[in-house]
Order: sequence, then C-alpha cells, then structure tokens
Amino acid sequence: MSTQDRLVLVDCRVVTPRAVIDNGMIAVEGGRVAEVGAGSGSGGRRLPLGGRWVLPGFIDLHVHGGGGSDLVSSDPEEALRAARFHLAHGTTALLASLVARPDGDLAPLLALVSNLGREGAPGGPAIIGAHLEGPFLSPERPGALDPTAFRLPDPAYLDSLLEAGRGALRMVTVAPELPGAVGLIGTLAGKGVMAALGHTAAGYEEARAAIAAGARHVTHLFNAMPSFHHRQPGVVGAVLEDPRVSCELILDGVHVHPAAARLAWSVLGPDRLVLVTDAMAGAGMPDGSYRIGSIEVQVEGGRAMTPDRRAIAGSTLTLDVALRNARRVLGLDMVVAARLLATNPARVLGIGHERGGLEPGKVADLVVLGDDLSIDHVMAAGRWVPGLEPEAG
Ligand SMILES: [Zn+2]
Repeated sequence: MSTQDRLVLVDCRVVTPRAVIDNGMIAVEGGRVAEVGAGSGSGGRRLPLGGRWVLPGFIDLHVHGGGGSDLVSSDPEEALRAARFHLAHGTTALLASLVARPDGDLAPLLALVSNLGREGAPGGPAIIGAHLEGPFLSPERPGALDPTAFRLPDPAYLDSLLEAGRGALRMVTVAPELPGAVGLIGTLAGKGVMAALGHTAAGYEEARAAIAAGARHVTHLFNAMPSFHHRQPGVVGAVLEDPRVSCELILDGVHVHPAAARLAWSVLGPDRLVLVTDAMAGAGMPDGSYRIGSIEVQVEGGRAMTPDRRAIAGSTLTLDVALRNARRVLGLDMVVAARLLATNPARVLGIGHERGGLEPGKVADLVVLGDDLSIDHVMAAGRWVPGLEPEAG
C-alpha cells in the first residue's frame, strides 16, 4: 500500500472502545483502520476535521427499510435505496429484517438478501445478512405482524431457509414457548445463527430453558412480550437477570417510556444493550401509507402504526437519532454510546474482530459528527459516502 493511499484524519475527537482521544488522529489505509492515536500522525494525506467527533460506523441488527424503500425486495435497486438511506444516517453495516408473509415462502427472499450481501452494495453499507422476524412466533404477541403467517417451529423448514440463505441467515426471532422451539434454538445456536427471543408470551421458566438451549439475544425488549410482574417475571425478568443475554431497545420515544429505557440500561449496562431502529420504508419520508412485507403501515407524525391503530408497526427511527436520544434519555458518554451502536451489535453478530470499533486492523467504517451530533460525513470500508465526503483538505 503506497503512502498516497493513506488518509489521516486529524484535529478530531476519536471515540475508541476505551476512551475519547481529544486532538486525535485516525489513519485509514486499504479500506482498514491503520492507526489510532493523538496528535498529527505521520505520512499520507491529512484531513483536518475541525474538532468533530469520529465514531465507529453504526450497526443495525433490526431494520426493514427506509427512505420509501424496503430492504427485502425482488428489485435490488429498491433494496439498495433503503440501504443507502440508512448509510446516510451513519449505519455502515446492517442485518436486513424479514417478516413472515402469509403468501409464501421466505426462502426466495433470503436468497435475495444473500445475493445483495455477496455482490456488495455499491455505495451502500455492508449487508451482513438477514434477520427473520418470524415465522416461529406467538400469535398472542404478533405486534403489527400478521399472525396468519406464523407457524410452529419446524426443523425441516428451518433447514430449507438455512440452505436458501447460503450463510446469510444470521438471526432468527423465536417465541420459546412454542412446541419444538427449544430444540430449534439449540439447532440455531449449533449452526452459529443467533436465536433471539421475541414476539412471545413465554413465562420465566420457558425463557430460562431457551437461554439454556443457546438463545443469547432479545428482539426489541419490552415490545411484543408480557410486561414484567414481580410474581411473574416472564421473559423480561429472565433475560435481564442473565449476563449472557443482550437486548435490543428501540429508542424512538414511541416504543419505550424513557423510565423503562433507563431501568433497562441500569440493569444491562454498556455491554448488553444494543440500540436498533426496527425502521420501515416510511423512515425519512412524509406521513402516509407504507408497507413492511405484506403488512400495511400508516405513518402519522413519524409514528408508524397498523391502519387500525392497534399496534406500533416498526419505526421511522435512524441510528443517528437513536444516538442523540440515548445521550438525552440515558445520559451516556460517547464511549458507551459507541458500544451500544457499534461494538455490541458487532459482537452479537460474531463480527467483532472485523467491525464495531475504531481500532487498527478493523474495516474503516466511521461516522463524523458535529457538536450537535448531526452527521457531517460517513465512510464505509475506507470510502467516503457520496454527498457526505469532506471537502478536499
Ligand atoms: Zn421488526
């Protein structure tokens, strides 16, 4: 790698997994972080950032779409539009979330996500793989999902999905109380696919059995599951008390009351909480009608609901807004905020050695933010995102 390929960002506040480096520098070479430190560094082309924050690129484990488009589409251009929308909000890697559809098989949709991830998304974030939100869910807690699309855990069907995904299937949300669910969770864990608890009416003991079988993550904690009760602690009690389990929170001011978010944060701490968007096509768009798969969604004042207003239907959140909300609601410092938005989701996906922190050797995914924590620039795999590149310095 010649020194001409070395870019050194200077005059910035670099947020590493352990500290904020004021007057920091970060060198990027060959698409990777080459060096992180203080001062002006050496070699290469210098780019002063006027004291701005530099954070690792955000990683979203739960997102359906954005910018008017669905991430799971037979039209790859539509999927890329949704991906690029989130990239412009700082998300440099994501899992595409698929909902169960009554009209058919998820296998061809998984194949679409797999293709997108393999071919790479030009000018888009890394599409790490797919998250299945269904079909092995409880009809008692469908949220906005269509319960007629749910089915009982079925190892043969799971095998067909794993095959169709060709490695792209990385997370499956499961209701652990369904017959066969614990065995299915064991199979997922054995294949290195994250089993997440969610859309469930499980009691405490059922949730414990699922964790014992290998479930290590929770899909949008508090939403689509029974509330915590001091004599029936349920899923919420079982996952909060187990240090092996990470939990998603949708910090959009709609899904979770700030006090509940603070309570979860005080229990989960900096290593187990993961901020996600659960965003759908209406994110970043005017109020109106949108879809998640086959589900109709009405967006009003930024709130996404089923047309009968019965349930919240995804969100219009982006991770840069989640960052600002987390600072305000949870009072997080920037080091912890970067863990919740990048380090923890990378670890949940098993890609912590590649992404999720500003450290030498990792993929150069980063976000440059102003004092008000709005996005100024985004770099994905060492390349500035078009329209969000700094002026040549
Ligand atoms: Zn979702």
